[in-house]
Amino acid sequence: MPRSAKHLRGEVKPSKFKTSMCQYFIKDSECPFGDKCAFAHGDTELRSEQQNLVIHYLDHLISSDDSDSSA
Ligand SMILES: [Zn+2]
Repeated sequence: MPRSAKHLRGEVKPSKFKTSMCQYFIKDSECPFGDKCAFAHGDTELRSEQQNLVIHYLDHLISSDDSDSSA
């Protein structure tokens, strides 16, 4: 099995996170990367880039709320 590049969370663009089905999951119904996998494990995890943008935006809003609010 070839060593897979760009399979882990953090190795793909946030906008691409879980926008494609995981090839390991399709083939074996399980994935060695588990929760850290950047690909979707099933339809429920599959999302669009548009959703990612919204999620990323909300996450940024939330995380920047009480940490560093210097304007
Ligand atoms: Zn996976």
